[in-house]
Amino acid sequence: MIRKPMYIDGSWQPARSGAQREIINPFDGSIIAQVAEGAREDAIDAIAAARRAFDSGPWPGTPAVERARLLFRLADLVDREKEDLARLESLDTGKTVIESRWDMDDIAGIFRYFAGLADKDGGEVIASPHPDTSSRLVREPVGVCGQISPWNYPLLQASWKMAPALAAGCTIVIKPSEITPLTTIRITELAEEAGFPPGVVNTVLGPGAEVGAELSENHAVDLISFTGGIATGKTIMRAAAGNVKKVALELGGKNPNIVFDDADLDLAVDHALNGVFFHAGQICSAGARVMVQAGIHDRFVKALTARMQRIVLGSGFADGVQMGPLISAEHLAKVAGYVTIAREEGARLVLGGDRPDDPALQNGFFYLPTLFTGCTNDMRIVQEEVFGPVISVERFDSEEEAVARANSTVYGLSAGFWTRDPDRMARVSRALRFGTVWINDFNVYFVQAPWGGYRQSGLGRELGRMGLDEYTEVKHIYQNHAPQPLGWFGK
Ligand code: NAD
Repeated sequence: MIRKPMYIDGSWQPARSGAQREIINPFDGSIIAQVAEGAREDAIDAIAAARRAFDSGPWPGTPAVERARLLFRLADLVDREKEDLARLESLDTGKTVIESRWDMDDIAGIFRYFAGLADKDGGEVIASPHPDTSSRLVREPVGVCGQISPWNYPLLQASWKMAPALAAGCTIVIKPSEITPLTTIRITELAEEAGFPPGVVNTVLGPGAEVGAELSENHAVDLISFTGGIATGKTIMRAAAGNVKKVALELGGKNPNIVFDDADLDLAVDHALNGVFFHAGQICSAGARVMVQAGIHDRFVKALTARMQRIVLGSGFADGVQMGPLISAEHLAKVAGYVTIAREEGARLVLGGDRPDDPALQNGFFYLPTLFTGCTNDMRIVQEEVFGPVISVERFDSEEEAVARANSTVYGLSAGFWTRDPDRMARVSRALRFGTVWINDFNVYFVQAPWGGYRQSGLGRELGRMGLDEYTEVKHIYQNHAPQPLGWFGK
């Protein structure tokens, strides 16, 4: 059994209360670890450590090239530990180890990308309107950052926050989801090995309502970065108002995947599967809302059904398995609840809609790949984030209708569409109001491009140059090289 404390001010320690939490393997419900279960008091300790490290510790004097060196070293350690990290992530989340290995490659790349940016900004000279003066802009670290991550991509989401914050020169207190903390603890060990000074990286474990709430409310925190659900995001925004801390939010999505009549049918079907069934649909950018033009609709549904029937469920560690379990019993109940609602609202269940029969999977939180057709814009299955292996298919006639319906959602994270018509590519990509639009692809993201949502899918951007800018303040420095008396108030 894995046993882990948390990391505050460069030392590994239990929760002040001594409380512990059991971490569950979603594949079979077994207990895989016991970790410290922190509370507000532990978060306060960590915030104080991060404050000291930012204000008066070695960190403010650490040159950007040295921050870059530490981040490159951390990336190398992620590479060195790739297989162990991937297996730990799969143990904790249930996702296939193949997916976790991709995540680890991404994560190493993310640390390298932001390491590379850390020493590239020399500020910017701007034109002063006054003679004998100079004006320049410099970017400075925001300060102490609270970072709260979700359970679906625990280490990937943590790295989207840790890497730019550290590159910018901030200090951090990170709180992983209480149900999937293991890889965040492990990367904290690697950050210690890489040589980040005490207080720069602090990892506090515990529930959102305690540790997360403290990070959001505490006036010594300058920025709170959160990835998770909309309702929690709104709570955090309100909590952050106390000291007007900066707020960065990556929230949920209900992402339309639109297939036009002129699309390559086989490709569109293939990518519709990838769009939803990675990590059993527990992806913020899952293309679970599939919209198909009338002329291709029936052939598309037939081909999709056939492919979905062949998806292999099981342990993420077993050869040939393509989809693991959902994260928890509670989440399984939520997904099953949406299936019941969809049936009550009149959607037609074509496939799935239940747990698998396989006796080997009964202790895990498995749910069958599920397909609904005959869905309409007003159904909850179409408008709300199910976060499971469930596709709703809507039929549409015209391009205008598809775009209008796709945009009629509170979410605005990502959308994709399939067509061979270049004019339509230009029109529809402009008309869709989402943070990312994919043309003839789905679920593609990389560190060089910013990621974030329109509408209620979030605030700000992670990744890319903008992901670094989130962790900086802009200061305008103006200098008068030949000051003269103004005489405005007399001599
Ligand atoms: P969640 O909102 O339940 O929890 C996320 C984190 O917030 C956890 O660490 C949790 O402990 C913490 N938290 C809970 N209550 C809190 C509070 N009152 N104050 C502060 N922190 C609190 O979300 P989840 O179920 O872990 O994750 C799934 C959600 O995350 C989905 O909606 C998904 O779309 C979203 N997500 C978005 C992105 C993106 O890039 N936009 C990426 C991954 C996941």
